[in-house]
Amino acid sequence: MKQRIVILGAGESGWGTAVLAAKQGYDVFVSDGGAIKDLYKNDLATRGIEFEEKQHSEEKILNADLVMKSPGIPDKAEIVKKIRAKGIKVVSEIEFASWFTNAQIIGITGSNGKTTVTSLTYQILKDGGLNVGLGGNIGKSFAYQVATENHDYYVLEISSFQLDDIENFRPNVAVLTNITPDHLDRYNYELQNYVASKFNIAKNQNEQDIFIYCLDDKITMANLDNYPTKARKIPFSYDKPVEEGAYVHNNEIQFLINKTQLNMSIQELGIKGRHNVYNSMAAGIVGSVYGLRKEQIRQSLASFKSLEHRLETVSKVRGVEFINDSKATNVNSTWYALESMSKEIIWIAGGVDKGNDYAVLEPLVKSKVKAMICLGLDNTKLHSAFGKSVDVIINCTTMRDAVRTAYQMAKTGEAVLLSPACASFDLFENYEDRGNKFKECVYQL
Ligand code: ADP
Repeated sequence: MKQRIVILGAGESGWGTAVLAAKQGYDVFVSDGGAIKDLYKNDLATRGIEFEEKQHSEEKILNADLVMKSPGIPDKAEIVKKIRAKGIKVVSEIEFASWFTNAQIIGITGSNGKTTVTSLTYQILKDGGLNVGLGGNIGKSFAYQVATENHDYYVLEISSFQLDDIENFRPNVAVLTNITPDHLDRYNYELQNYVASKFNIAKNQNEQDIFIYCLDDKITMANLDNYPTKARKIPFSYDKPVEEGAYVHNNEIQFLINKTQLNMSIQELGIKGRHNVYNSMAAGIVGSVYGLRKEQIRQSLASFKSLEHRLETVSKVRGVEFINDSKATNVNSTWYALESMSKEIIWIAGGVDKGNDYAVLEPLVKSKVKAMICLGLDNTKLHSAFGKSVDVIINCTTMRDAVRTAYQMAKTGEAVLLSPACASFDLFENYEDRGNKFKECVYQL
């Protein structure tokens, strides 16, 4: 008899899983508690895959042999509790899709820098002539690509939610960029639960595999021995020389992999800021591990341009620079944004607080932020955190107000930085919507 898979959530990964599962001969049912996008609905219908929206029909769900839970659905959702209570196996999309491919998998996780390292790694491997797919949280899902394309390598951006429900998923190369408190609302406000989920990336790796990690990241280093992996470990660091891996010496990155050495000046990197030196080191190591030509890796790292909503320079108006870092949805990413600024700034921050501790930002805020604009429904925490270090703090509830107020306060030579340190969904659909609105308002000045 056919195995029955129920897919909870019909976004990109749910839809992709449905397509792959149908191809693999499963009896497939897709259930979404909200509305499903027309694009996905039409495609599921065309393929003859049964689905429902705005409800979860238990009689069609609790008879599953296997459930794929989309990463956006928390464990505390009623339907998930019932599925688990019945002992039905729950997997994530990357776990499921990995069962049906023999390709090399490069899995990239971490609190910050995932998208950047994933895109950069993809670029390096692609420029190196490999037949490579880019997936995970970016673009087409991994499952959809396994169903419809035939790559020899997949570079996957993997969130902690995807790693919560893995069993055998085993990347040949894993990258853990860093770990800083994030999404704690989904982890019972326990950092250790979140850390454990991140380290899942390496738990099934074996001796032939490689685990790339940041030697300077405190939480990673404090936990490295608690989550053993059989993989060969390759570190990168800003200032600690390593025998194998990458580090910075005299403003040059030194890559040392498999006895091959590659040097590259930081100035040559296509993306700027200390965090992007880390990101470039991580991606460069992957390229070196796969034996790509030094000159080609250097060229890919030099030509890579910053991604939208990540320290993206929008425009200069009357000498005031506007920078969109809407993707900074946690404190650590905002720390790097503030750290990379060499001008006085008007800082636009706020949104949905995910259990943030703002104390680490204080020294940077004190020295660089001239005024702060809080753009959220509830700004009390920001006021109490920065009331003493910033002279002017203004509340705004629309992006238009925030941008205009910032513009009025800014002098030539200063910058307006949107780097919220918070999620966006109190006032915006998502971080892209927030960043796009910021840009529109800047263009209207
Ligand atoms: P993710 O996909 O993990 O959210 P992104 O590459 O999209 O990461 O970057 C998200 C935010 O974090 C951006 O605002 C960026 O400026 C910042 N950032 C990028 N890389 C790092 C890093 N290695 N460490 C800290 N912050 C980073």
